[in-house]
Amino acid sequence: MNQQAPSLRPWVLAETNYGLLRDRRVEVAVWPFGAVEPHNLHLPYGTDCLEAQIIGEKICERAYQQGAAVLLLPVMPFGTETNLQAFPFALNVSPSTLLAVIRDVVESLERSGVRKLLLLNSHGGNDLKPVLRELYGRTSVWIFLCNWYQAVRQEASSLFEHPDDHAGEMETSFALAFFPHLIARDVSGKLLADDGKTARFRFRALEDGWVTITRPWHLLTTQSGAGNPHCATAEKGQALMRILVERLSEFLIELAQSPLDERFPFV
Ligand SMILES: [Zn+2]
Repeated sequence: MNQQAPSLRPWVLAETNYGLLRDRRVEVAVWPFGAVEPHNLHLPYGTDCLEAQIIGEKICERAYQQGAAVLLLPVMPFGTETNLQAFPFALNVSPSTLLAVIRDVVESLERSGVRKLLLLNSHGGNDLKPVLRELYGRTSVWIFLCNWYQAVRQEASSLFEHPDDHAGEMETSFALAFFPHLIARDVSGKLLADDGKTARFRFRALEDGWVTITRPWHLLTTQSGAGNPHCATAEKGQALMRILVERLSEFLIELAQSPLDERFPFV
């Protein structure tokens, strides 16, 4: 351990140093993706970044401590916000720009000897699967994608009364558990948020989901929130995190240990 930085976490790239990384083999890099966007009136603009950062830190810590050679990259703070442009400071990076950024960073990881990368996405507006298709065959880095809110969809539907979309019960529970000091409340202590009701489409095909569009968020929502946050509790946020850490760290350990033979990633 580095004598000059006793609290350095060696699984966090931004905290570690060249002396420690120079001769260290990294099997799996984890790259969290967030967004800068309004979250009803009670959660901070950086909610998705904070979620991505905290989940990334916890899963890499668990995997590293169990012997997996993992490294957490800094959060990509900007996400795709084209459909939130009516809101101030919804800072957009278009899908094609996001692809270009990921391609460049993947190249740097490749030069650094990394061959397995997990994109840990926290923002529903980031559609990253096309990036995997675009880069397949053009890099020696295997890119995996986890939208964490989909990885726990089943548990979330029993944990939360209103399994939701954006700034609702799940994200608010998460915030109550991990960044309660950033939650806005009124004088009585109630969340400074409306009930996150969303507008219905006039087309049955869109309501049923077999025709899709990118939704104009200022027409869909009242105050940018989609989902009711008022039943949120810190305990639900903690419970969700326990499931995430268990599930994702186990995958990281498996991935780190798996040889890159000619059948990879199949048995
Ligand atoms: Zn969010």
